[in-house]
This record gives sequence, C-alpha cells and structure tokens, in this order.
Amino acid sequence: QPHGRVFNFSAGPAVLPVDVLERAQAELLNWHGSGMSIMEMSHRGKEFESVIQKAEADLRTLLNIPSNYKVLFLQGGASTQFSMIPLNLAKAGETVDYVVTGAWSKKAAEEAAKYCKVNIAAKGDNKSLPAVASWKLSPDSRYVHYCDNETIGGVEFKSVPDVGDRVLVSDMSSNFISKPIDVAKYGIIYAGAQKNVGPAGVTIVIIREDLIGHCRAEAPTMLDYKIHVENDSMYNTPPCWAVYVCGLVFEKLVKLGGLDAMQELNRQKAAILYDAIAESQGFYNSPVDPAVRSLMNVPFTIPSSPDLEKQFIKEAEKAGMLQLKGHRSVGGMRASIYNAMPIEGVQKLALFMKEFHAKHAK
Ligand code: PLP
Repeated sequence: QPHGRVFNFSAGPAVLPVDVLERAQAELLNWHGSGMSIMEMSHRGKEFESVIQKAEADLRTLLNIPSNYKVLFLQGGASTQFSMIPLNLAKAGETVDYVVTGAWSKKAAEEAAKYCKVNIAAKGDNKSLPAVASWKLSPDSRYVHYCDNETIGGVEFKSVPDVGDRVLVSDMSSNFISKPIDVAKYGIIYAGAQKNVGPAGVTIVIIREDLIGHCRAEAPTMLDYKIHVENDSMYNTPPCWAVYVCGLVFEKLVKLGGLDAMQELNRQKAAILYDAIAESQGFYNSPVDPAVRSLMNVPFTIPSSPDLEKQFIKEAEKAGMLQLKGHRSVGGMRASIYNAMPIEGVQKLALFMKEFHAKHAK
C-alpha cells in the first residue's frame, strides 16, 4: 500500500481515501495560495466560505437533496443529535416513536426519554430487523426514529421504512453516502462524519425546512437547528478542517460517478466477505440474517473456538490488516468496510480467512 499504509478495518474513526489525504497534505501549509492552512484561516473569510459552500453543493449533488431541505455541518457528534432531535421536534410530554434495533438506536431512545414520552415501536434482536408492518407506531407521535445501519450488530435497512405521513428521522452515521437515499422520504437524516465521510468533529444534518424553528425555549442555543440554519452552520467557529476534508471526499465521489457507483462497489466488497464466510461451511459464522446484512460492518465469529478468534486477529494484524476485533458486546471479529476501504483490502482479508481456515481446519 502507498506510504506504508495498512488496511484499516476500524468501525470509526475509519480509513480515508489515500488520494484525499495526499491532497490535504499538499494543501496543508498553503491552501490555494492563501499562505495559510485551512486550520488557520478565518471561518468568515471568503476562502473558507467557498470551501463549506462547495462541500454542501457537492453533497446536494450526491444525494440529490431537494431544495426544501437544509444541510448543516454541526459539532457534538451523532450523539448530540440524540438530544437535539427531541428538543427540536417534540414538546415535553409529547410522544415520539423509536425503533430499537441495536446499541445506537437504544442510546438514541434513552436520550430522547429525558425530554419526551418515548414509545418503543419495535425491537430487534441484533441479528434481524423487525418488519416495518409490525411496528407499533403511536397515532400521535411527533416523529419516528430508526438507525439505518447498526454499526455494532451489522444490521442494515435495505429500503426506506414506510411510516405514512409521519416524520421519519434516521441515524445514518455508519452508512451515510454509501448508497443513494431518497431524502424526500425523511424529516431528518444525520451522520457523524468519522466513518464514511471524513474526520471526527463534524456531524452532517439534512433537515426538512418545516421542522426548523420549533426548538424548546429552554434548550441550549447550540441545540437549536434554527440558529445553525440562520447562520449557515457558522453560529460559532465551525470545525473548519473536518468540513474541508469532507468536502474533498464529496468532490471525489461526484467525480467517481456518484452514489450508484459507490453502492455497486460496496455491494461487491461486502459480497466478497459474506461469500468467504459462507464458503467456510461453518468455520466462520455471520450472526446476521442474510436479508439485512450490512454492507459496511461485517461481524463474524469462529464458533468452534474463541482462542482461534484471538489468533485470527493477531495474525491478520501481522499481515497488515488492523482493527478486526469485534465490538466487546458481540465478540469475534468485525470488518468495517466503508467507502474508503479499497476492494484490494477486502480481497486480501477474504484470502487470509481462507488460508487461516485451511491451517486450522480439524
Ligand atoms: N450512531 C451510530 C450508528 C454510530 O455508529 C455512532 C458511533 O459509532 C454514533 C451514532 C455516535 O457517533 P458520535 O461518536 O459521532 O457521537
């Protein structure tokens, strides 16, 4: 790999495209003849303004975002959205629906419960997803929240849940811009950047205009969507560097042919790993229902031996494939294969799996 880089299978902060890092490096000390780094210049100057505007324009192109949606670049991670959403969309005592399909949607629901009445409309088992027709939505809920891709369990929705004319809110932190999305079906889409997009420190929020301007009076100013909309994401100092790198990634994806092309590549990459698991005839196991297996996060185990799992992770590391340890709540291994993971990395892992199996088959 160029620059002596490894294949990084981390769930986040995750791998970034090498050419994006090279460009950021080339522009680091003197951005476009300004004599300054992006990190050093005024966020109110026309240089940075052009950076954030281009980032937004390219993201709008990628996701075909309708004109009645605002794009925000915020701070506080996706975790801050867990409280910002209820504070802006529901009053105290009002009901909101949450679909809990894993660790992240559970956290989101717990946070919302501090501010309003949470109805758990459906629950998953970390291996499959509850059918949308079985969701027990409240008649009067202010919105329906779900997580499109559970990073830890590796379960991913394959289509937009139909919730009628309710406001649909989605945490897309770990599969944002991995596939095309019909934004018009959503009230809010949000994602922390540090998996599929760019560096940690910026959170992207796409919000329908009619949902802006209803924040509770007692909520912190920084948690009011309206404040950020009115100030073009620059109410306070934005995470300039993170926004800039996200912009480089968006520009690259636009040039590569957009999200249809990305989705196709992500399907190919995921299929290589899921096929390797299937071909091992039980030596490796994916705990997830094939219908909802994530294209981004692939958990797998070696059911016959936890010791072999440890050995697998150690030997993979020696071979230049890092961060394959599964989340502590699931165990085993997890290969996160976001947009920036080259197909060569996935092919190398699949070959390694085959060889490791051959060596340890009884
Ligand atoms: N939601 C999902 C699906 C995640 O995977 C994560 C982080 O891993 C979060 C939310 C929390 O994001 P942040 O660390 O940006 O607050």
